[in-house]
Amino acid sequence: MTKLPEAKLYIDGKLRRAAGDRTFEVVGPWTGEITTLAADASAEDMNEAIAAARRAFDTTDWASNRDLRLQCVTRLRDLLYANRERLVDIARLEVGAAMGAIFSVQVDGALSGLDALIELFPTVTWEEDRGTAEAYGVRSQRLVVHEPVGVAAAITPWNVPLYINVAKVISGLLAGCTVILKPAPDTPSAAAILGELAHEAGFPPGVFNVVTGADPAMLGEMLTLDPRVDLITFTGSTAVGKRIMEKGASTLKRLFLELGGKSANIILDDAPNFAQTVASSIVCFHAGQGCAIATRLLVPRSRYAEAIAALEQAYQSFSDHWGDPEAPSQVMGPVISKKQMDRVLGYIELGQKEGARLLAGGHARPDKGGGFFVEPTCFVDVSNDMRIAQEEIFGPVLVVIPFEDDDDAIRIANQSEYGLAGHVASGDKARALRIARAVRTGSVGVNGAMAVGPDLPFGGFKSSGVGREWGREGIEEYLESKVIAVPA
Ligand code: NAD
Repeated sequence: MTKLPEAKLYIDGKLRRAAGDRTFEVVGPWTGEITTLAADASAEDMNEAIAAARRAFDTTDWASNRDLRLQCVTRLRDLLYANRERLVDIARLEVGAAMGAIFSVQVDGALSGLDALIELFPTVTWEEDRGTAEAYGVRSQRLVVHEPVGVAAAITPWNVPLYINVAKVISGLLAGCTVILKPAPDTPSAAAILGELAHEAGFPPGVFNVVTGADPAMLGEMLTLDPRVDLITFTGSTAVGKRIMEKGASTLKRLFLELGGKSANIILDDAPNFAQTVASSIVCFHAGQGCAIATRLLVPRSRYAEAIAALEQAYQSFSDHWGDPEAPSQVMGPVISKKQMDRVLGYIELGQKEGARLLAGGHARPDKGGGFFVEPTCFVDVSNDMRIAQEEIFGPVLVVIPFEDDDDAIRIANQSEYGLAGHVASGDKARALRIARAVRTGSVGVNGAMAVGPDLPFGGFKSSGVGREWGREGIEEYLESKVIAVPA
């Protein structure tokens, strides 16, 4: 596989290498070989980016000039479309995405998400006339103004980097914030290309900055602690999200956290095409590295044997349909890194120790191409209190849990630290909707309907996060409300 161009920093309107020309190597998930070098920013580089973003927010008209923002973002969108092939290369080589995932959320979904944010921009309310009222003996004419929060720092993960970078950067910029993007060390190119194209699009200096680095924590901690940064928008693990919340407290950061998930897919006994619905629940998309993927399958005990037979067959027929980087219809490749592969394999070992039965998969598959391949894996006879049912594995691992009745299914679905997404299937819509309303998650799809889309708010309950991304709500996360009153 070919290599990607070196990933550069974009700071204060300049594309450049890190101080001292420091770089780090990025390993490609398909082969385990180096795919590119990326700028390894120092604290000095990050300091410059924060200063530039602060200056651009405080001293230019970026925060107030909505036409300029829309023009810049639209030019960036056009350039991203014109460079789609490069985005495909990045998603393939750096992220380890299979072609089917690239046509979906990894590239094309990110681009259409950007279109959706541009379309939503005119629907954002910037000012509201709240009329005249008397309060505390004073009659006033009141206006509520929605203003950008200030400097926003986006700290992003490696699983669907372009999609998440677009959600945060574009929403923040459209809202009028200035933005510093700090991507995960595994996927610097998916951020660096945004800097490169923003430069080409003629963004005013300092409005948008990209800072890559090898250390997973150092640059992000700087952003979290720095008083010049007003808001942190973070997607990643719950553990790091909590740390950011704690460290951000000293400067009272606005925080917006998209964290982990362990979503339940509840298939009721009256689900139409029961066996087919069960079979389509196998966790394979992007090797299970998606926070909203339903990794707990809840099936009725009355049809448990049937469900297991359907899964066994589904895993058998899937066994030859993953791990080929060229196949346009495949949705599953390797996991991102050796570290992630070891973590997933560790959970597979743990599941067996906990007494769950391995129905399919369970092994690393280096024969697939030298990279970080883990077989699509399924555990049955799982009880919801096992760690494999409670902890986010972030790999191609499904756990199957039987339930007694609808209330038991709701109980199991909700017996989780997480609350990100979920699915329900039933022949009785009212029955499915009752369950959808009772499950405490940020989204629930009924009978295969899609509850996730770039024009909809996405986010979690409980330890799955704080705030919402995408949709009009996602842009509004970057706004503060101010009341201005004059005597009436
Ligand atoms: P991670 O939490 O380790 O890292 C995420 C980002 O935070 C990276 O950019 C990393 O460099 C940075 N970071 C690490 N330590 C930091 C610190 N102390 N301070 C500031 N920044 C720090 O997560 P990951 O391994 O990159 O991604 C996998 C996790 O992300 C999974 O748990 C997954 O569920 C979650 N995720 C959630 C969503 C969502 O929308 N809810 C989407 C994608 C991934």
